[in-house]
Amino acid sequence: MKCPYCGATNASRVIDTSHDSRGGIRRRRECKNCGERFSTYERAILATPVLIKAGGEREPFDRDKLLQGMRIACAKRPVAAADLERLADQIETRLQRMGKAEVSSRVVGDMVIEGLKALDAIAYIRYAIVYLRLDNLASVREEINKLLEDQNAKPSS
Ligand SMILES: [Zn+2]
Repeated sequence: MKCPYCGATNASRVIDTSHDSRGGIRRRRECKNCGERFSTYERAILATPVLIKAGGEREPFDRDKLLQGMRIACAKRPVAAADLERLADQIETRLQRMGKAEVSSRVVGDMVIEGLKALDAIAYIRYAIVYLRLDNLASVREEINKLLEDQNAKPSS
């Protein structure tokens, strides 16, 4: 720990330690070199896992890229930008809570597709065509049929 007054390293002693409500630790320190007092704050930071792509390539999680893909799927659809932001936040938080260093990019794709399904059926189908590689009309129709069955199965809508 470097003293912010004199720059001495590892010359401070802890004179008080307190915990805050967010799980952080505040330490009051006194520099043995110059006698000045200062505080340090420690907080655990949740790390977002690195994504492993289909080809085995590693890629850092990129919230903006994720949002961009969702925005393209939602183009001209009545989906609020705030809903997409919220979905991106939820996905990021879920990834962090997994507590893993690396996860398959499929995990993220599955979360997006699940989230879009709840927001807008057309956006979901657009994303599904790319993500599930639906490369012919029959498989797109099959996906739409599944969606319609799900909607019919819901009592209220
Ligand atoms: Zn000092």
